[in-house]
Amino acid sequence: MRVKKKIYFFSQQKTDGTKSMSDVLGGKGENMAEMCRLGLPVPPGFTISSLVCGSFLKHNRLSSKLKKEIQENVKRIERETKKSFGGRIPLLVSVRSGAKVSMPGMMETVLNVGLTPKTIKALIKKSGNRRFVYDSYRRLIMMYADVVMEKGLGLGKKSGIRNKMEEMLEKIKQKNGYKNDAAVSSESWKVLIEQYLRLIKKHFGVEFPDNHYDQLYGAIEAVFASWNGKRAKEYRAFEKISNKLGTAVNVQAMVFGNMGEGCGTGVAFTRNPSNGKNRFYGEWLPNAQGEDVVAGTRTPQPISADSGTKKLSLEAAMPKIYKQLQGVRKTLETHFKDMQDIEFTIENDKLWMLQTRVGKRTGIAAVKIATDMVGERLINKKEAVSRVRPNQVYESMLKNIDSKDLSSAVRLGGGLPAGPGASTGQVVFSAEKAEKLGKKGKQIILVRNETSPEDIHGMRYAAGILTSRGGLTSHAALVARGWGKSCIVGYQGLKISKNKKSAVFGDKKIKEGDWITLNGTDGSVFDQKLGLFQQPIKDSKSLRLLLRWADRYRRLKVRTNADTPEDCKQAMAFGAQGLGLCRTEHMFFDKKRIHQFRKMILAGGKEARIKCLKKLLPHQKKDFYNILKTMEGLPVTIRLLDPPLHEFINVNNKELEKLSKDLGESKKNIEARIDELREDNPMLGHRGCRLGISYPEITEMQAEAILGAALKLKKEKGRPKVEIMVPLVGSLNEFLDQKNIILETYKKLAKKSGQTLEYKIGTMIEVPRACFNAKEIAKNADFFSFGTNDLTQTVFGFSRDDIGTFFQTYFEKEILSFDPFETISEESVGALMKMAVKDGKKGNPGLSLGICGEHGGDPKSIDFCSALGLDYVSCSPFRVPVARLAAAHAKIKGTQNNG
Ligand code: PEP
Ligand code: MG
Repeated sequence: MRVKKKIYFFSQQKTDGTKSMSDVLGGKGENMAEMCRLGLPVPPGFTISSLVCGSFLKHNRLSSKLKKEIQENVKRIERETKKSFGGRIPLLVSVRSGAKVSMPGMMETVLNVGLTPKTIKALIKKSGNRRFVYDSYRRLIMMYADVVMEKGLGLGKKSGIRNKMEEMLEKIKQKNGYKNDAAVSSESWKVLIEQYLRLIKKHFGVEFPDNHYDQLYGAIEAVFASWNGKRAKEYRAFEKISNKLGTAVNVQAMVFGNMGEGCGTGVAFTRNPSNGKNRFYGEWLPNAQGEDVVAGTRTPQPISADSGTKKLSLEAAMPKIYKQLQGVRKTLETHFKDMQDIEFTIENDKLWMLQTRVGKRTGIAAVKIATDMVGERLINKKEAVSRVRPNQVYESMLKNIDSKDLSSAVRLGGGLPAGPGASTGQVVFSAEKAEKLGKKGKQIILVRNETSPEDIHGMRYAAGILTSRGGLTSHAALVARGWGKSCIVGYQGLKISKNKKSAVFGDKKIKEGDWITLNGTDGSVFDQKLGLFQQPIKDSKSLRLLLRWADRYRRLKVRTNADTPEDCKQAMAFGAQGLGLCRTEHMFFDKKRIHQFRKMILAGGKEARIKCLKKLLPHQKKDFYNILKTMEGLPVTIRLLDPPLHEFINVNNKELEKLSKDLGESKKNIEARIDELREDNPMLGHRGCRLGISYPEITEMQAEAILGAALKLKKEKGRPKVEIMVPLVGSLNEFLDQKNIILETYKKLAKKSGQTLEYKIGTMIEVPRACFNAKEIAKNADFFSFGTNDLTQTVFGFSRDDIGTFFQTYFEKEILSFDPFETISEESVGALMKMAVKDGKKGNPGLSLGICGEHGGDPKSIDFCSALGLDYVSCSPFRVPVARLAAAHAKIKGTQNNG
């Protein structure tokens, strides 16, 4: 059996590791080896394979064989650096973790290993810089005590040596009036070091190791052990990273940016990570060690001279080094073909590269970098499409909180992130107020227990929406997402006062007019006005280009859920290929129409109802005509009335009086009828096709409006492609009942107008029973559209409107690992969909298949729908670009999986 190599050496002279060895070398080790192979100036070192991590964790110590190999490799470093570990020209090393998958800040690092009383003297002599040496030693002691002695070896009765040491440092600074660490004198460092060493003896009962190899072995063991540290384990559980991977350990010659003149350290990105521009972007600090740049104790200076600040740039301070760094930047991008995040140190006017990795970036930068790199022939179009995550596209289109403001913001609490993007505004507690103030141009956050269709007018004018109840498919969430509005739902602990003038958010009272800020992307609510910014990517050339490329790869079509011509236009601008769901109930909520509609519901008998419906007919017809005209030539799916009637009859006294007058009935009679219509469980009650079955005249009116509008458009030489969809069907009989009304209505209209029309009749599949009856229904239907909001509700038995009360606990206790109203639960809802697709196709091979639940805009669910063989997904206008990209990813992945 071949013995697997345990240690891989790297240096500019010789490098053992090769590309694509991240399984063994970890990300850091692999990239270090790559940089060496590229001839970049990397301090020599070696990587102990992550395969060693598992056996180390079993025995909890390094084998003597491994120690020997470590010594041999240290010798190689000594030869290349012409320094000696523990010797007179002292070599110091860093010991860092580095797993295959990046786990930023989750594992440990020990720097300056090899400093002992003996080497301290030698290093002072060699560097002539006493302060630098003591500074380095105190850093070593603190890191070592914390990482190796306390966490690694588990010494000490109580934890917290680091805090104690920080306190001691603060005391010394205070006592001597030092403003920051850089001001501390070498004498004070010496005093602190003595205090530290005494503390260690007292706290752990052992001396601080004064042997260089003891330090090194201790540090390596502790870094391996940090793979199983609490933070690292939690992070892996959260990010679903396998516990089996293990970490590699990198031991590398230290270089120093804190030795005075001609020294410095910095971090940089090869392109701007915020806007993606192809400009070198980063920060540096003269006379400092790496951690100082990120620690925020000193304000870093820009790398490039054109950064717009007055601070001395690296370009101006060290032009030669800057030029060299520009060369490194080019080499790295040409090699890795992606934007890199690098760390470097300058020691006595010599540049050293300490790290490179793929840089994190904002959504807007992701799109720009990917498309620019195609133009620069670094990557091809397929790679560009695959590289941008669908949610990065969404993120790039929304507002974000200014990072400067965010760092000092006070978080009030949070709820479910229903509509991503940030919003800031003054709080109001009613839709009327929101509309009134919004119309005056005020920025408003509408805060409600929940919203209903009657709040739409106020929601339109609100910058953001916050509710105490509801889940990700509650009314507020659906509407907000449809408009690309920021929204948080299910904020527990939010109690609105009866007079709607204030609310308590946990322990804090917020009054009408107070400012708050919502971050709908993560569900956080902040107690003040925060600055927001939005990149104008909606009109971005890069995004248009990327999506055009994505369209070449995808098979799934993307339609939109929209109820108005304006939303349709918005969606078409984003590339929608049709309308997948027009919720007609939203068209009744106009102030004038709702009165007619209420009259219709509350009218004494059929005759009276038909009278009211006749008044509504021209309005509906006009609405449909406008939508069909806007979407000319593209398929338009219009759904018959769906919501429970109670949503329409929530009337106040004034409205009641008007109804009583217009219907010629007493208020008491009307109230009694309203009571009759109330349901205990309206979500499962008198809604969907059940309404049309009870009141066929409603379906008749809607069918007449839809088909009449289409016929009118056709007569004007337009190209209407209309599909009528029956909601909440569970059985064939339900579907046929409604289909027959539509067919009869069409016959009448065709005869009257002397025209014919091609149109489709199909159904939503949104209750489990429909999935079981899919074959029979499909024999009679032209299409199925999966209503996965209701399907999830009915499969899980979770009320869409009430999940806010218990979902948080479900996530905390890990009973749910994801929100099934956001991502299709493949093993339950998905299994039923699969069955319905298979049986549906058996019943009608020409059946068209789509999805119009909220999942139609979720990348993971889109992947599932693609694999299921659906023809299209339909989502809110702002998700259309996301869906286009996700559909391309699904196809690319599918092709790769199939070889
Ligand atoms: C659904 O149930 O998935 C759906 C699209 O319909 P609605 O959300 O209007 O109930
Ligand atoms: Mg539904």
